[in-house]
Parts: sequence; C-alpha cells; structure tokens
Amino acid sequence: MKNLSDLQKKDLEHIFHPCSQMKDYEQLPPMVIVKGDGLYVEDEFGNRYMDCVSSWWVNLFGHCNPRINAAIKEQIDKLEHIIFANFSHEAAIELGERLTAVAPKGLNKLIFTDNGSSSTEVAIKLSFQYHVQTGNPQKKTFVSIDGAYHGETIGALGVGNMDRFTDVYKPLLKEGVKVKGPDCFNCSFDKKRENCNAECFVYMEEYLKENGDIISGVIIESMVQGVAGMRIYSPIYLKKLRALTQKLNIHLIADEIAMGFGRTGKMFAIEHAGVSPDIMCVGKGLTAGYFPMSIVLITDKLYDAFYADYSEGKSFLHSHSYSGNPIGCRIAVETLKIFQEENILEVIKEKGDYLRKSATEKLKDIPYFGEYRQIGLIGAIELVGIPGERAGYEIYKIALKKGAILRPLGNIVYFMPPYIIKREEIDKMLDIFNESLREYLETIE
Ligand SMILES: *Cc1c(COP(=O)(O)O)cnc(C)c1O
Repeated sequence: MKNLSDLQKKDLEHIFHPCSQMKDYEQLPPMVIVKGDGLYVEDEFGNRYMDCVSSWWVNLFGHCNPRINAAIKEQIDKLEHIIFANFSHEAAIELGERLTAVAPKGLNKLIFTDNGSSSTEVAIKLSFQYHVQTGNPQKKTFVSIDGAYHGETIGALGVGNMDRFTDVYKPLLKEGVKVKGPDCFNCSFDKKRENCNAECFVYMEEYLKENGDIISGVIIESMVQGVAGMRIYSPIYLKKLRALTQKLNIHLIADEIAMGFGRTGKMFAIEHAGVSPDIMCVGKGLTAGYFPMSIVLITDKLYDAFYADYSEGKSFLHSHSYSGNPIGCRIAVETLKIFQEENILEVIKEKGDYLRKSATEKLKDIPYFGEYRQIGLIGAIELVGIPGERAGYEIYKIALKKGAILRPLGNIVYFMPPYIIKREEIDKMLDIFNESLREYLETIE
C-alpha cells in the first residue's frame, strides 16, 4: 500500500466503510477529514475539497454552519435526551408546528425515526396496519417502480428495485411488486419532456386497477429517482398516481428523503405536482447533515385509525431509542428557520438558474454526452458509451486530486452542492468535472 498516515492505518485496522469494496481502499485510502468550512472540507494533509454532493445528500447550508452550530450548543446545555414515550420537549413541539406548516396539505402528524430506511419501514408497517384496522387486512401488497430506492434495511430493500443492493439478500426479503415506471432518458413512448403526458403511467394504471383490492400502498421518490441516477420524471405522473390511488383506497407514500427540503426548488418535491400524499418520509436534509433523524408525516385520517382504547390493540408500537431526540429536533427547527428567514427557496431558484446556464455552456461539447438534466439545485450528466469498466469511479478519483468531491452513480455524474455554493464555485465545479473527464479519456487512449 501507498504511504499511509497513522490515522489512515488505524482506520483500515478497524473500520468497515459503508457502500465500499474495502479492497478499493488500497488504491484510494480513506481520506481523513479534520475540518469542515462551508462548501469545503479539509483533510489531515491540509488539502481542501469542494463538497459537490452535500456530503451524501444531507448537507444544506455548508459544513459547520454557524447558525446550526449555535443552536446545537444552546440545546446541549438544556436537554440532550428524554424518553419520548409519554414525555416531550420544546424542540419537538416547535418542530411539529413548523414542519406541518410547510408540509403538503393534510400531513398533520409526525412519527420520528432515526434514519431514512427506518422511516420506510414505518411507512410500510403503518399503511398495512391502517388497512387491517379499517377492515381491509387483504391489502398487504406494496408497489414501487423500476429503479426505486427507499433504503437498505430488509423491509426497505423489499420495496426497492436496485439489483446491486438487493440481489444477494433476495432470499430474505418480503418483496413488493415492481412495475415499469418513467424512463425519460429512453422514453419508450418517444416523447420529449416538453410534450410528455406521463403516458408511461399506463403500466401502473393497469396494475393498480387489476389488483387494487390487495394493495396497501405505492411508494415512490417524488420527482427524482436519486440512486437510480438522478432520473427526473414528469409531475404529471405523480398527479395521475395520486388520483388513482385515492380512488382505490391505496396509500400514496412519498419518499422525500433525498429530494425534500428545497433540493428540487420546492420545499417538497411532490409540490411540483400540486398534490399531497397520505404518508411522506423525510430525512437527510431535515437535519442539514448534522444528525441522523428522519420523520414520517401522516394525515389525520391515518392517525385516527390508531386512536382507540388500549385494549383494542390498535396502537402503533414502533419506537427507536433516539426517537424525537432533542438535539436532532433543535437542528431541524433551525433548518426550517433558515429556510424562512434567509429565503432559501429563492436562493435555490437563482443558483439553479445559474447552474443550468453554466452547465449548458460548459458541457455542450463533452465527449460521450448523453443528456444533461436538472431540477432545482441538482444537475446530472448521463455519459453514454464511455469506455472503461468503472469510468465514473475513475473520474471521481481524478476530480479528488483537483479538489472536488463528485461521486458519480455509475456513469452518471451529478452536482448536488449545498445551497451556499457561490456562482464562481458552480463554474469551478463544472470545470473540474470537464478536466477530470478529459484526463480520464487520455489515460485510456
Ligand atoms: C438515502 C435515502 C433513503 C435511506 O435513508 P438512510 O438515512 O440512508 O437510511 C431512502 N430513500 C431515499 C430516496 C434516499 O435517498
């Protein structure tokens, strides 16, 4: 192995990193980050990197954001944890008020979990139990679309549809039904985005109409299928899905874990369709990259189906040790305050427009260009036919040397920076990608 620092050696002695083949670390050892500062993080050798992926899609306002840091410091001297059954605290109560005020209409109750995958589990359990308690115990099937990603616990993998995460565990899973969803890059109806009427909804429509009486819920990532490759689809699909699920007494479960909190230009991505789900999972940006916390929002109608004398056995007995943790709640409150007080949705619009303009200019003659797509402050380039087995990964390694953290999904390179990025930094991010791509292509010639 290369010359490793003490910290790197000790890391490799004990730590099994997520979503990694540890053998790859022989080529690219763990980068030990010692400091965060806005858009940048700094490693132990003093190298600085632009964080173009919001540190795994969670960071909204930069690393070590002064407002959030201050909120945590204040909270930590007041209350760090309290059992959340029968007890409550100010931060959770304020969060309840603030989050329901900005959530899509009708979502009025909060269930706390520790991470996105757990909130998927809660959505599934709750939807099924609702139907049991309202006289439809046969409704136990969950439906999702191609490329769906809803987390990596066993239940969440069951409703996911990304083979590379799922394959080996198939014997363990309770699998939902997968139907063909939108694929706008290779639209089989030969539509351009401008004249699309979500014709591809026909697959979902057929399945739901035929099997509606056994279906509990449809779970879907609103507007953008993130892990599948930042696949953006039409809001008309969501509109149609809402109308039909409503008619057939099927829950619409919106997974807003990645795209909630402004990423697509609206507070929640489903707002693009002008509809509300029955259940909505949020996470990631909820705590701006500071704290593992997730929330499942539900309607009063769902809540009411669980409200009964204890002896009726209708309680929702799901809990986590850290449910409703005060530090997490305080961070989420501060996140929502920043949105409001600093007009973040406006900021996202303005920076999104700039990203689109700059990307259109800078990416127009790159080789192997398939498509550039963007919504809000997330842009993605689909590279088609690029040679090499792991082109995306190689480009990622080159970009690191140039001081940018990109983290392509296969051969789809995306830009998902924190909302504090400046115009010149948007340009630089795109330039680094461009140079890295060209350098990669030179190495394989
Ligand atoms: C990240 C993600 C999850 C899982 O959240 P974790 O906190 O990583 O468990 C679920 N759904 C979507 C759409 C995600 O992007």
